[in-house]
Amino acid sequence: MKHPDFDVVVVGGGHAGCEAAHAAARMGAKVALVTLRKSDPGVMSCNPAIGGLGKGHLVREIDALDGIMGRCGDAAGIQFRLLNRRKGPAVQGPRVQADRAAYRSAVSAEMAKMSALTIIEGHVTDLLVSHGSVSGIILEDGAAVAGTSVILTTGTFLGGTIHIGDQSYPGGRLGSDGSIALAERLRGMDLRIGRLKTGTPPRLSAKSIDWAGLDAQPGDTDPVMLSFASKSPVLRQVDCAITHTNSETHDVIRANLDRSAMYGGHIDGVGPRYCPSIEDKVTRFAEKDSHQIFLEPEGLNTDWIYPNGISTSLPEDVQLRYVRSIRGLEAAEILQPGYAIEYDFIDPRCLSADLSLPDLPGLFLAGQINGTTGYEEAAAQGLVAGLNAARRCVDGDPVHFSRMTSYIGVMIDDLTTRGVTEPYRMFTSRAEYRLSLRADNADARLTSWGYEVGCVGEERAEQYQRKAEAVEGCTSAMKTVDVLPSDLAMHGVKVSETAKRRSLFDVLSSGQVDVDTAAALSPQVAEWPEEIQRQVHRNALYHTYEERQARDAMALERDEKVAIPSDLSFDGVSGLSTEVKDKLRLVKPQSVGQARRMEGMTPAALLTVLSEVRRHG
Ligand code: FAD
Repeated sequence: MKHPDFDVVVVGGGHAGCEAAHAAARMGAKVALVTLRKSDPGVMSCNPAIGGLGKGHLVREIDALDGIMGRCGDAAGIQFRLLNRRKGPAVQGPRVQADRAAYRSAVSAEMAKMSALTIIEGHVTDLLVSHGSVSGIILEDGAAVAGTSVILTTGTFLGGTIHIGDQSYPGGRLGSDGSIALAERLRGMDLRIGRLKTGTPPRLSAKSIDWAGLDAQPGDTDPVMLSFASKSPVLRQVDCAITHTNSETHDVIRANLDRSAMYGGHIDGVGPRYCPSIEDKVTRFAEKDSHQIFLEPEGLNTDWIYPNGISTSLPEDVQLRYVRSIRGLEAAEILQPGYAIEYDFIDPRCLSADLSLPDLPGLFLAGQINGTTGYEEAAAQGLVAGLNAARRCVDGDPVHFSRMTSYIGVMIDDLTTRGVTEPYRMFTSRAEYRLSLRADNADARLTSWGYEVGCVGEERAEQYQRKAEAVEGCTSAMKTVDVLPSDLAMHGVKVSETAKRRSLFDVLSSGQVDVDTAAALSPQVAEWPEEIQRQVHRNALYHTYEERQARDAMALERDEKVAIPSDLSFDGVSGLSTEVKDKLRLVKPQSVGQARRMEGMTPAALLTVLSEVRRHG
């Protein structure tokens, strides 16, 4: 049997796959999403939450480009929190605790709205390759699905092995088969493949928890949505609760470390340092006698609780003992054991910045398969691969995300230039321009550009245009209103004797007054909607930094624009060390800027690269 031909075939209905398929369909491509189960879209393998620090920035960028993760998170949100609320807007990250079932429904509904998108249930075991290019996939039953571009988003399933204590077996996540045949096929190709691992905690029954003695953790009273298009939560809001491990918990874990899959020598893959298992925490931070645990409901109509902070690969009997040593969990029932999973990933330095494999035209990779961890990182890569896979079908040039204008660009550049030594997760500290790359201004950075590229629809583009005009109008109003030192003094602001009259915008930039005071100082400003005033305030706070950053960015852009021809070999260049030459051969940087960021690149080596490029050109 042969399925009808498609422009883009996406393998995997996880976060990367759904965002890729949706983006490609928005671009006008005819898309097939082939996944193990029709019910895969929107499944969250681990914690029922979207967003957070760095991750929330990625979700906002996906949303600014009309992607689905933000609006689905809002539709399923049962608790909204803006993390780092007390710090500056640049490092604040919106986060949503989601009802798992509602998130799945929301994602399925978004996929169903796309008439050019077909979901095919099937197990992909092979790639169709003709004349050196990938031209589709083959299913376990021998059926072929042909497509001009193929995107692999196989997540933790690729060569997946599940570990609980000393037991291990193939699987993609608990209850699902792994993708073994495809892993074998890829291992037989000329690709650099490694192993990574991650883990998840046991799930607990809410009924078995003694909530009375635990601290409640409520959501924000003024919820901040993930999507620019959402107004307010739609589902009932709930509290989480906080408890802690104690010395007894740690004793149980320490006494059984040799039975942990991770410590008993059953796992070779490298795990995420930033998301340590409870075994890791107890050994690496041996001086700490307690670790915080957030008890997070998995939904409104379920008994399942996700205890955030105790992921493990200890045997089930040990999991039960350590869980029951924790306050509030003395009679806890485990509904599903914690486990670790080990899986194959492909060295992302094999990829171009559009997430395609130059050595295998037609093939794109996105998500966990590229060495990342997290729903948001996966979804953002899915968007990039989806856009580019669709553009390839109409012979369009690839679209590249710059690290100067988006966290998506930061991630893609980090992955393709530096590769990964452990599962890659987004942090605000990874971005050198983080004062400009804020979650609150993702639409200003990306929506108009996304409209030009073709992935942002009319409605979203118009919505953004109206907001941009309002922000501009309110900013002009603030720039024309003059404030006297005596006006400020009347509102309790300390002013020096030499203080002069300034524009309200400058006063806001200095951080001396908040939005409410600004509105009180000018009826003209008070007329604008509150959200617009707040956006102008955030822009004003970063105004001077942004000007400085724009100058730095221009200098960097000059490097970025110096392209390194793909046929230029550095092998015979005398001024470069063997190590740098090896790296250049491996990474194949497409620009001098990318070469500059390569691990091991020195200023002297960069000058040599630059002069070689000029000589060649
Ligand atoms: P996935 O969500 O894994 O989706 C892959 C999809 O591909 C699935 O729908 C599957 O059915 C499909 N598929 C695979 N192979 C085939 C095939 N051959 N044919 C057809 N379909 C196929 N993230 C964190 O941020 N922090 C954590 O602590 C964390 N812990 C985790 C613990 C566990 C045990 C697991 C399983 C995951 C964990 N994650 C964690 C990772 C998080 O789930 C992933 O980062 C995210 O889901 C990756 O998205 P993805 O789209 O790349 O892949």
